[in-house]
Amino acid sequence: MTWLDVAPDSPFGVANLPYGVFSVGDAAPRVGVRIGDRVLDLATALNDRVFAAPALNPFMAQGPAAWASTRDRITELLVDERHRGVVEPALTPLADARLHLPFEVGDYVDFYASEHHASNVGRMFRPNSDPLTPNWKHLPIGYHGRSGTILPSGTPITRPNGQRKAPDDAAPTFGPSRRLDIEAEVGFVVGAGSPLGSPVPVGEFAQHVFGVCLVNDWSSRDLQAWEYVPLGPFLGKSFGTSVSPWIVPLAALEHARVAPPPRDPEPLPYLADDGDWGLDLAIEVRLNGHLVSRPPFREMYWTPAQMLAHMTVNGASTRTGDLYASGTVSGPEPDQRGSLIELSWGGKEPFALPDGTTRGFLEDGDEVAISATAPGPNGARIGFGEVTGRIEPAAG
Ligand code: CA
Repeated sequence: MTWLDVAPDSPFGVANLPYGVFSVGDAAPRVGVRIGDRVLDLATALNDRVFAAPALNPFMAQGPAAWASTRDRITELLVDERHRGVVEPALTPLADARLHLPFEVGDYVDFYASEHHASNVGRMFRPNSDPLTPNWKHLPIGYHGRSGTILPSGTPITRPNGQRKAPDDAAPTFGPSRRLDIEAEVGFVVGAGSPLGSPVPVGEFAQHVFGVCLVNDWSSRDLQAWEYVPLGPFLGKSFGTSVSPWIVPLAALEHARVAPPPRDPEPLPYLADDGDWGLDLAIEVRLNGHLVSRPPFREMYWTPAQMLAHMTVNGASTRTGDLYASGTVSGPEPDQRGSLIELSWGGKEPFALPDGTTRGFLEDGDEVAISATAPGPNGARIGFGEVTGRIEPAAG
């Protein structure tokens, strides 16, 4: 319990303490921790210049011992009122703070780890064969994405132009995407990298991954459908990927850890589960303020520890600031699907919004907000905040 006036049921209490990068007025961006509806300036409160940087990278690079001791120091400042004189001058109301991309993004990988999502998409695109590809339950499938277009939450998303070709069109045409979509995902931020030639075992996940954020992997389904054979996603994905402003440290998610779904078949030994890194995150997707889906992250087949182990098993290195995302989070129920292509079944079954309109895919002006919470200690909730974006018309 903190001595600050933070509601006991706040999802941003002392059990959470997510890190972000903020600025006030014309001051340079720096690292802060969210407590309630305020931001604690860590460079000031901890008298440590590593937090005066405009990104979390220098702090994350210090590794897991520094992450733990820093969290302990921040917790002490906030629970022991004797530190009031140090803390109060370092607090900024969230409403006065501008939030930035919290880390400098290194490499970006996007996985495809939801069995329900992969099965739904498989049923739509390959109706006459198995929904899952033969490799799907043997390895977490992924692709290397474009880190340069990872955007802070709130950045407008311009509808992309590109080549579109419906199956019965004779030839492709060029123009604005007609099937613009979202993908509600969870992102994992590498804090301490791993050298070339050193795979990261499943059991060493928490020594490398610093924290977790929310990701909206904006997707153009018409561009994607025409371009992706045989090498996978390209321009249908690379025009923008939004991330939430707060990085929830793994240490705040101990009470959210759950066993992943049963494995059938058992994966190869390097992917054997070790430590139950399934996570019970309750995600909510809102379109123009209306709740349209509640994807449950605990249903994900592959854990983030298995994703990191697979991503590095060939000897690939990782670096501070690398981001990997889970892939669209979808549960077994129709109202748990994390993309519009699933919610509208390829656009064939548009769904109604309370304002009387219907959607198959996104329209110009639509605003999407993805949020999540997780269980914390003693009934507390751990908040992730939200990742938002509004669709702007395509460039003429
Ligand atoms: Ca994706």
